[in-house]
Amino acid sequence: MNFHVLTLFPEMILEGCNNSILKRAIEKELLTVDAVNIRDFTLEKHGKVDDYTYGGGAGMLMQAQPVYDAWLHVTGNTDGNNINDNAAVANDVMKADGASEQKKKPRTIYMTPQGRVFTQEVAKELAKEEDLIILCGHYEGIDERVLDEIVTDRISIGDYVLTGGELPALVMIDAISRLVPGVLGSEESAQTESFENDLLEYPQYSRPEVWHGKAVPEVLLTGDHKKIEAWRREAAKERTKIWRPDLYEKYAEKEQTIKRLMKQKKENAYLIDSLLKGKAKLLHTMGNAAVALGINGITYMICCETKEEGEALLAYVPKDAKVVLHNCAELNDLIDERYNLQVGDECYQSVYTQHTAMPIAHKDIRPYPISEIDYAVENYGGEQEREYLRDRILKGEFFAAYENDEIAGFCGVHAGGSLGLLYVDPKYRRTSIGSSLASYLVNWSLERGGLPYAHIRVKNIASLKMQEKMGLYVGKRTIFWTYRKEKEEE
Ligand code: SAM
Repeated sequence: MNFHVLTLFPEMILEGCNNSILKRAIEKELLTVDAVNIRDFTLEKHGKVDDYTYGGGAGMLMQAQPVYDAWLHVTGNTDGNNINDNAAVANDVMKADGASEQKKKPRTIYMTPQGRVFTQEVAKELAKEEDLIILCGHYEGIDERVLDEIVTDRISIGDYVLTGGELPALVMIDAISRLVPGVLGSEESAQTESFENDLLEYPQYSRPEVWHGKAVPEVLLTGDHKKIEAWRREAAKERTKIWRPDLYEKYAEKEQTIKRLMKQKKENAYLIDSLLKGKAKLLHTMGNAAVALGINGITYMICCETKEEGEALLAYVPKDAKVVLHNCAELNDLIDERYNLQVGDECYQSVYTQHTAMPIAHKDIRPYPISEIDYAVENYGGEQEREYLRDRILKGEFFAAYENDEIAGFCGVHAGGSLGLLYVDPKYRRTSIGSSLASYLVNWSLERGGLPYAHIRVKNIASLKMQEKMGLYVGKRTIFWTYRKEKEEE
């Protein structure tokens, strides 16, 4: 991930990133932080970058020209190093089964107290980008005309006014970097932290066992992971209820919705799983029906039983929606008419409804190495899938089965959460490798508190049969991925 910070105080940014975890991540080349001095681009001979505001008023304003030229320098229009070219990020997932992805412009974020407030959810959204340009204001801010031209997002770190955008930029860089795979020591440390799943983190203790007469809760010394997990969950709920009732209300509503959706597990798996794993934000519920937005900020998910329910839930889907995933065939015409989105994939949904892990015959399954990406590209969709597969590998959601130290097959979790991306080398077909990879994914999802599910295109009879043989249940109703089809053909 590459941060490009446009600032009048580059040393503040560089110094702020030169410690602890960020420093290590930069050394490991997981991150780059490039601080560009806006002053270097002014055409004013004394190096001035600010002037009085038209209409009067206190304070100076940063002028458009130096900001614009610094931005041009970063986006590559002056030196040929165009970050637009490598900004293709797997930003999800209209695809039930790994189709094409959208390219998008690198984002340019203006730090401003007037923007939407930065939260863990926003951090997750931005962590999907490969390049982020962050613009720091100073004095009274920046001439509005250049902001209109270059800025894609305005973000605030809270309802107070600071002297400059450098501290907000560092806050954002720090929070986003923690979500970049490999930056933290273990993937788990980000998954249990506060705000994951709308809960604060549970209390934690280290040695000694007794300090100032206070003993560590006994359950934590038992080594019984199930009991420890349950205790931690309760403790997290308890403190969220007391310290952040606003957050707890959201959590409780979500839990209720999941319970109701569970009545039709096999039809609603995609939404249940996304809510369980904190990968979707609930927008509205109505009886046993609900609509949510995936954390990619693109996919709207609807679960409903009747057209009427679906139509009511569509009121929460904006006119410019790009992907709608739903499970009600009667909604397709309406979605086409209202959003110009057509059915791209019709799939059956298979769901693992047990709570116990599946047995895995083939033991040597490991995270897929990025150095072997060519093998995956060659055997799963070709060059058009390279960026998507790269994203899956870097997110740690793609796995390889090995036989005699050679890759014998692979599998992965789609960015939308469904399990799949399965391939077995012809040499190893009719061995236990295929089913082991599929079981491995089921267990992976269970360990993360999810409801393991896969989307299988209706015509893929072989895959459906395999799922049933493995003990997954296939839902009766199909689900629909709708998106703008003519875009795909361009
Ligand atoms: N006149 C501006 C206003 O009232 O909205 C405030 C300007 S502030 C003094 C100078 C710069 O600090 C801003 O351009 C912005 O980049 C940054 N800044 C100040 N407070 C911020 C906050 N809460 N979040 C993000 N950036 C902030």
